[in-house]
Amino acid sequence: MKKVIVTGGAGFIGSHTVVELAAAGYAPVIVDDLRNSEERALTGLAALLGRAPVVHRVDCGDEQAMREVLEAEGEVHGVIHFAADKAVGESVAHPTKYYRNNIGSLAVLLELMRQRGIRSMVFSSSCTVYGEPKELPVDETAPDRNAASPYGFTKVACEQLLRDEVSASPMLKAVLLRYFNPIGAHPSGLIGELPRGVPNNLVPYVSQAAAGLRDRLIIHGADYDTADGTCVRDYIHVVDLAKAHVTALDWMGQRPAPLCEAFNLGTGRGNSVLEVVRTFEAVNGVPVPHAIGPRRAGDVESVFADTRRSAEVLGWRARLTLADALRDAWNWQRRLG
Ligand code: UDP
Repeated sequence: MKKVIVTGGAGFIGSHTVVELAAAGYAPVIVDDLRNSEERALTGLAALLGRAPVVHRVDCGDEQAMREVLEAEGEVHGVIHFAADKAVGESVAHPTKYYRNNIGSLAVLLELMRQRGIRSMVFSSSCTVYGEPKELPVDETAPDRNAASPYGFTKVACEQLLRDEVSASPMLKAVLLRYFNPIGAHPSGLIGELPRGVPNNLVPYVSQAAAGLRDRLIIHGADYDTADGTCVRDYIHVVDLAKAHVTALDWMGQRPAPLCEAFNLGTGRGNSVLEVVRTFEAVNGVPVPHAIGPRRAGDVESVFADTRRSAEVLGWRARLTLADALRDAWNWQRRLG
């Protein structure tokens, strides 16, 4: 079985990808120091996999520790690099932390991959690289725009680092996956998102408001130039997103190096904040207390994906709906209590 290092494999998207990798016959090896996850993620994974996942509890940005992991694991087919800091607001307050962790960890991994002859990387990027796109839906050729936060800029910088490294290393293959808005949870209810403190993201906040853990959701602005005045995003079920990583690895495996390609991972549909709230209420039969508040600094009005390239070139498309994702998010929230 081909071993795949999954940095951040105990995280939200990482854990779902570990499940899909195992189902597809890969041998996932998690590298995660659990700084932004919990033991619970590993317990859930064990239940889903039918065995304890292979986990190295180290910081993937620690070069010595990471070297030891790779030495211990022997032959490795590829790396999926999820581990990163991702809170937009925190990145504005602590930019150095974001530049150091997000760019530094990628640099460490690329250096070690080069030394050990590991040739394939799948990188977690984001539609944040498009900033406020001029045209919708946004396709992969849209120019990078001034990312609205230091977090966003680290994704732009990491993509550039990968392009430069591929130009320099004829053996290297990289796929940059630009996620839109990943939501939901595994339908089993065994793994899902574990926000720390007050959630920044919409759907965890909606779930907590529905569960009575928060007074009410504040909708950040209803005066945008959209159908109902609230911002529009492309919400994609985390299981669809996880499957795209397996597809990307398979696809890379059939192609010669060097290779560096970017793909959008979204549904191609845009939904407003109010549509998310209404769909959650309808599909789960619970009210979501909410109120309209002021705009949130740095929010883009509308962004949703042109998914033609990922469909035509990778052969991947999202299958699950917004309603599926919101049902699974609520199922997970109820188990969390
Ligand atoms: N949002 C909101 N209230 C919240 C959290 C988010 O109205 O408590 C809105 C936010 O302004 C944006 C959308 O929900 O329009 C998605 O936000 P999220 O932070 O989940 O993802 P982003 O697209 O900003 O990465």
